[in-house]
Amino acid sequence: MKQLEALLPAETGYCRAAPGHPFHGPYHDDEYGFRVTGDAAIFERLTLEVFQAGLSWLLCLKKRAGFSHAFAEFDIDRVAQFGEEEIRNLLTRPAIIRHRGKIEATIHNARQLQELRGSHGSLVNWLDSNHPSSLASWQKLMRKRFKFAGPEVVREFVASLGYLPDAHGTICPAYHRAIDLGAPWAAIPALCLGDHLLGDTLQKPVDQ
Ligand SMILES: [Zn+2]
Repeated sequence: MKQLEALLPAETGYCRAAPGHPFHGPYHDDEYGFRVTGDAAIFERLTLEVFQAGLSWLLCLKKRAGFSHAFAEFDIDRVAQFGEEEIRNLLTRPAIIRHRGKIEATIHNARQLQELRGSHGSLVNWLDSNHPSSLASWQKLMRKRFKFAGPEVVREFVASLGYLPDAHGTICPAYHRAIDLGAPWAAIPALCLGDHLLGDTLQKPVDQ
């Protein structure tokens, strides 16, 4: 871990700004960069990142319950069956971000996740089977299969699930708790680590 820590920032803007915030605080302290194993939780994370594109993460956190309700508690099989009627209904709901392209992308992504769950047994198995990968490899892999999976959406998706090592600065308490709770990046052999596994220096944008 010492070799890894030498490559990582001591603290990040998000680590400084998020703690104590009513929405960012709990997400930063207990979720961001932590390992997630449930299919619905992984689908939720991808969906929130898709809806965040071009907007603020704070807005997505505030609407989190609305998204969950709108997308069947992130039941992949149910969302995969959504059609035009459901899309029109979702476009009337102020509890979510009403963006047709992102809603259609979420339905498409649910169908892709169904396939991956089928071939790997679970979504966390699929993620683990690609780990460790460089940020560029994750971006290439996901761009081929998912919609609205731009470079920053993919970066945040994999970093937030603990597949990149730089979600937190090394002096952040959440950095150490994520390790204790089995963050995937902490298991990468130090020899594999280097600039190629780190993202660019862009950390999670801080929005108040
Ligand atoms: Zn932190």
